[in-house]
Amino acid sequence: QTPTPYFYTTPEEARLLLRQRERFSHKGTFGHALLLVGSYGKIGAGVLAARACLRSGVGLLTVQAPRCGYAVLQTAVPEAMCRPDTHQYVLSGQSEIEGIPYEEFTAIGVGPGIGKAPETANMLRTLLSQYRNPLVIDADALNLLAENRDLMSLIPEHSILTPHPKEFERLTQKWENDYDKLEILCDFARRYRIVVVLKGAHTAIATPEGDIHFNSSGNPGLSTGGTGDVLTGILTALLAQGYDSVEAAVLGVYQHGLAGDLVGRQRGQIGMTATDVLDALRWS
Ligand code: AMP
Ligand code: MG
Repeated sequence: QTPTPYFYTTPEEARLLLRQRERFSHKGTFGHALLLVGSYGKIGAGVLAARACLRSGVGLLTVQAPRCGYAVLQTAVPEAMCRPDTHQYVLSGQSEIEGIPYEEFTAIGVGPGIGKAPETANMLRTLLSQYRNPLVIDADALNLLAENRDLMSLIPEHSILTPHPKEFERLTQKWENDYDKLEILCDFARRYRIVVVLKGAHTAIATPEGDIHFNSSGNPGLSTGGTGDVLTGILTALLAQGYDSVEAAVLGVYQHGLAGDLVGRQRGQIGMTATDVLDALRWS
């Protein structure tokens, strides 16, 4: 077997990936993202992902959330359009008139706060059978994949999966040591031709080709609820703008960590919240 090529994202590399805005651009230039987020008691995860998406350069954002999240989202994120799901408490994928018009969107992110209701599992199944472009898949969407293994083969190529170690273990298997973990990571990304962002102190990003990019930014202030939802919003915004999946993952993970480092310097790591992190995002 050939050795795995390892890469390390430096500030210079992140800067090279970042695209500047054209003078004659308009919101259509920067894509239309859809976030499928939230369930009763976890609408906040959707708010965080949506706000992070808007802070990451997306042209337009639509959020589909259960009815109970409608007023919350329209108030907390006025920049986003909201499609209220027909279901009161969980995502079912249906709205007043129809199912989700997946093809209208240049990128879709699914998972933050969605829970694992049977209706939501159906929604995920429909999404994976109908949408052929790369998706960002996070949180309970990953747990639903782990519990419905047949869905794995429906994941569009070059989708970005963002498990933390526990979610990754559910998707794959237990590992003996860090070396073993990286090998499992690499095989998993190759096998399904996806980008896997294994989150943690040195987030490791595995590409469909089997390369691994380690991130250099971030700190333990990020170990707090909601920071993963922020990352999902960032990655969905980058895909919507036309970054390819590996570029989006490498740049997005770096910028997320960098925002955490800025907050850490300004107010310390201990009191850091996910909202601080998304408000600290800087794209220059
Ligand atoms: P989640 O577990 O889904 O909320 O995601 C947590 C986010 O915070 C991921 O982006 C992690 O990489 C990041 N994170 C958590 N703990 C640390 C740490 N000790 N150092 C750097 N980043 C961290
Ligand atoms: Mg998470």
